[in-house]
Amino acid sequence: MSEEANPFESLQEQIDDASAYLDVGDDVIERLKHPERVLETNLTVELDDGSLERFRAFRSQFNGDRGPYKGGIRYHPNVSRDEVKALSGWMAYKTAIVGIPYGGGKGGIVIDPKEYSEKELERITRSFAKELRPFIGEDRDIPAPDVNTGQPEMNWIKDTYETLENTTEPGVVTGKAIESGGSAGRVEATGRSTMLAAREAFDYLGRDVADATVAVQGYGNAGWIAANLLEEQGATVVAVSDSSGAIHHEDGLDTQAVRDHKDETGSVVDFEGATDEFAGEELLTLDVDLLVPAALENAVDEERAHDIEADVIVEAANGPLTPDADDVLTESDVLVVPDILANAGGVTVSYFEWVQNRQRFYWDEERVNDELETVIVNAFDDLVDAYENNDVSNFRTAAYVVAIRRVAQAFEEGGVFP
Ligand code: NAD
Repeated sequence: MSEEANPFESLQEQIDDASAYLDVGDDVIERLKHPERVLETNLTVELDDGSLERFRAFRSQFNGDRGPYKGGIRYHPNVSRDEVKALSGWMAYKTAIVGIPYGGGKGGIVIDPKEYSEKELERITRSFAKELRPFIGEDRDIPAPDVNTGQPEMNWIKDTYETLENTTEPGVVTGKAIESGGSAGRVEATGRSTMLAAREAFDYLGRDVADATVAVQGYGNAGWIAANLLEEQGATVVAVSDSSGAIHHEDGLDTQAVRDHKDETGSVVDFEGATDEFAGEELLTLDVDLLVPAALENAVDEERAHDIEADVIVEAANGPLTPDADDVLTESDVLVVPDILANAGGVTVSYFEWVQNRQRFYWDEERVNDELETVIVNAFDDLVDAYENNDVSNFRTAAYVVAIRRVAQAFEEGGVFP
């Protein structure tokens, strides 16, 4: 992946692109380009051998005009202040385009979690939760899983928070295990919205996603579920990758069998149902109908964008295309469904989880999936509407036009304090 594009600058460029189509003052746009605050903290944690280690950690609260800050917590060696700021901004606009009553936030720890035991990860997570405690809460800021975090981390954060606050407040985090107050359908939600966005995009083009060949970069939570649900729709998933490499079969991979293989061996490579394997980046330029980047930012830069063969890209990952790549793909008529809509299933079902936590009344999976489909299809319609009525050049700018207008309106209605 290219190391060059700074994700925070990418976010700001996306906001600038959309602001040209909005009747919103430059002073308000300036505010909407920066986080309200960023917590940077150093965690000191005891390792299993008794030694101490310092970990840098961040939480960015980008915008709270439409509701509590909301967004995941990432564990990765490349986590940085600017990455967290960018991801928190994307969350603010994601919650706006799907019309759920949240702002945007994001956090992360600079760590390669593979190098630590489960007990160490628990202590690191609880230490971060202690630092976050004054800033989070179901009406303040609600963390969720992101890259390399999942139900265990959310359960530890909730337990630490509730213990220190002497309360029960399951809605302080989302993405929890069911018995700890999680929602049915949450684990699958990001992949499900990716599938729904792909289905709508093909429909928009007068095509059927069932006839599509698909390549998926990244076979973690978002990527594998998207692949599996697209296969369920009838699409042919010809290639998938993870950080170890890519596998391919032109007649289609059995996505569940690939998942089982990854669970057993730790990677998709050496899967016996594949005909060939290659370096992960080669997957991005395969001649497929649909490309789903579901790994990390900047997977496609300007140079690689020239080699893209897919007709449609649906961004399961956050920020997988650099702004320069976006320009190239717009020129070459590749339809890109932006991250803030395509992967919004995660935060949408997080919202359903929070609603259920607050009502202490839980829905079945069918209801969750139905409500999610309504939200994503409505958001896609809003995006198409903005695309067709604003003379914007691509779907991403259309999505930002809708989202920024909503955040700006909430800000202007609230006014400035003091
Ligand atoms: P994950 O940790 O479960 O999976 C990430 C996958 O990407 C892993 O399979 C990893 O091996 C792979 N990967 C890493 N580097 C790669 C590379 N260079 N080439 C190919 N594969 C590579 O994470 P996730 O939760 O699936 O998140 C993936 C993306 O989706 C991130 O951008 C995240 O912000 C975004 N996202 C996730 C959710 C969610 O609910 N999980 C919601 C919204 C957005």
